[in-house]
Amino acid sequence: MQILKDSFGRTFPYIRLSITDVCNFKCGYCLPNGYQVDKKDNRKFLHLDEIKRLSKVFSKLGVQKIRLTGGEPTVRKDFFEIIKILKNEAEIKKVVITTNGYHLDEKAKMLVDSGLNGINISIDSLDRNTFKTITGHDRLSEILRGIQNLQDLNFDNIKVNAVLLKNINTSEKDFDTWANFIKKNKVDFRYIELMRTGDNLNYFNKYHVSSKIFKEYLDKNNWIYQTFGKDAGPSLNYINPDYRGKFGIIAPYSKDFCRTCNRLRITSRGDLRLCLFGNTGISIRHLLQKDDQINELQDLILGQMKFKKESHYLELGETGLTKNLSTTGG
Ligand code: SAM
Ligand code: SF4
Repeated sequence: MQILKDSFGRTFPYIRLSITDVCNFKCGYCLPNGYQVDKKDNRKFLHLDEIKRLSKVFSKLGVQKIRLTGGEPTVRKDFFEIIKILKNEAEIKKVVITTNGYHLDEKAKMLVDSGLNGINISIDSLDRNTFKTITGHDRLSEILRGIQNLQDLNFDNIKVNAVLLKNINTSEKDFDTWANFIKKNKVDFRYIELMRTGDNLNYFNKYHVSSKIFKEYLDKNNWIYQTFGKDAGPSLNYINPDYRGKFGIIAPYSKDFCRTCNRLRITSRGDLRLCLFGNTGISIRHLLQKDDQINELQDLILGQMKFKKESHYLELGETGLTKNLSTTGG
């Protein structure tokens, strides 16, 4: 079997697939004015048949895990249908999603029943007002109820991500609040360092802070650094026997971040992106139109692997093609 491998010996068993750019939240660092409908653009996101062909070809190339993201992936009417196709037709072993948790309380049961293997929920603060200020929505309680419902249904791969925002969610009290949360809930919590994108320079300059402050908190409170597992994501994880969940740090600017890269991205319009921030991306959509294009599609994808760079060079201020993360899925 041919697998996805780049010139630096890294392999890619994991795809992040954005299924829509549309989002119903207005996070300050991502879409501060919400999703803007461009009247000239007919919002042609990958449709079901294209997603089916795409996931089948990646499955053939050794991909075992697909993360559905966006925009907000759950706004798609055929969202559950997509999960079903990935699991049953493309035989992807692990199908996971990243979501803002909109209506999670109502959707929890359907998510569990769909066979989903994991969920990452974005919650930037456990303070109702702070949450509302960041996202533009007073929906923290429905999301927390959703997390409870998932646990009640014995769904056991729940992660919560928050973007670290200077003087907004970075006090010792904020960190203690999350510690208390993962003491009671079997949920892993990770802080992501704010990334600079093409759209958010002012926001970035105002709110970016190094994750060092959270690492110092973890060291002070006896959290133990856990070395990488095989299917590890980009998170540096910390454990403590008194807590049910783990803490984690996702620091894209750290010097070793790209060394363990194991994922490629597909945008909602069918571009293959070799890196979240890379300048390298080509459309593969023209080869998703008919079942008999599979070999050509496979050759195109394999041929692109030599263009994957060693690092994103974010530390040099490059933001690549990325205007904001709603188009590539974060
Ligand atoms: N709408 C879903 C959500 O918010 O979880 C999925 C898409 S969102 C783009 C994926 C992740 O990217 C979220 O956890 C979000 O907080 C994160 N994100 C968005 N913009 C970011 C930025 N500039 N820096 C760091 N993380 C960012
Ligand atoms: Fe929407 Fe997610 Fe971006 Fe927030 S981070 S605006 S929820 S896509």
